Amino acid sequence: MAASGAPPFRHLLGIAPLETGEIEALLDTADGFVELNRRSDKKLALLRGLTQINLFFESSTRTRTSFELAGKRLGADVVNMSVGVSAIKKGETLIDTAMTLNAMHPDVLVVRHHDSGAVALLARHVRCAVINAGDGSHEHPTQALLDALTIRRRMGRIRDLTIAICGDIAHSRVARSNILLLTRLGAQVRLVAPPTLLPAGMDRQYGVAVFHDMRAGLEGADIVMMLRLQTERMQGSFVPSLREYFHLYGLTWEKLETARSDALIMHPGPMNRGVEIDGVVADDINRSAILDQVEMGVAVRMACLDHLTRHLRAAP
Ligand code: ASP
Repeated sequence: MAASGAPPFRHLLGIAPLETGEIEALLDTADGFVELNRRSDKKLALLRGLTQINLFFESSTRTRTSFELAGKRLGADVVNMSVGVSAIKKGETLIDTAMTLNAMHPDVLVVRHHDSGAVALLARHVRCAVINAGDGSHEHPTQALLDALTIRRRMGRIRDLTIAICGDIAHSRVARSNILLLTRLGAQVRLVAPPTLLPAGMDRQYGVAVFHDMRAGLEGADIVMMLRLQTERMQGSFVPSLREYFHLYGLTWEKLETARSDALIMHPGPMNRGVEIDGVVADDINRSAILDQVEMGVAVRMACLDHLTRHLRAAP
């Protein structure tokens, strides 16, 4: 796992620094935890004695709950800290928070922050493993890992699949982490968005295809991954109206007609029904993998906690 702190503190700050083999090993470990999570006794003692602090500067439902469950199922002591955004200033205050927590000797810090790069900054000031649970519009590595696990289990592979990532690419850390991970594992990635929500040059930067027309972008797709409009990260107006956006870019059965007939529908949540996705499509139990993604999220986060703490457990 990416060693961006002083050894032996290993962090998961993004997909970019991970080796392909590490990604595959994490997915293989997570596969085993999926089975554990389906049993009535879900508890292991792998992280017994270790302390995990979940530090969320931005709100979260799925990610925070699943990190909490993941830590508890592996036997860690888990503490949740939600930091009201109003009480937080950048720079010194973030570092002060890091140093305060550091003094309590946590073994893992799971951090979400509204600024890109803030989690990496914090990681430089603590003596424990740090997991990025989403930093601004930069990266959300565990989301990409759980998406990959969902795809691998449902489709049997990732290599050579055509995966259309649609919607607010510009502000989405989920998009960035997924583009990095899915192209690394051999998928053909397409980005489908209005020009205002798709930064120029992403095709060349990431080796992906870019579409502004939804039907053309979905043609022959195996996976359709929808993204939420991240209005909290927008200054000014990026779409004419939500109604117009749904008309042009909202996922409906009609637009899905050009995709493969068994194309899988994904969304990281939270969903805005009637904005980026029609509720009827999201709820189709045969085509939608949205609840699978939530299930895989717990298993993937268990795998990350397990891998990041292995060497700590081995230490005398
Ligand atoms: N939950 C995801 C994230 O934190 C996606 C979203 O918020 O739209 O980035």
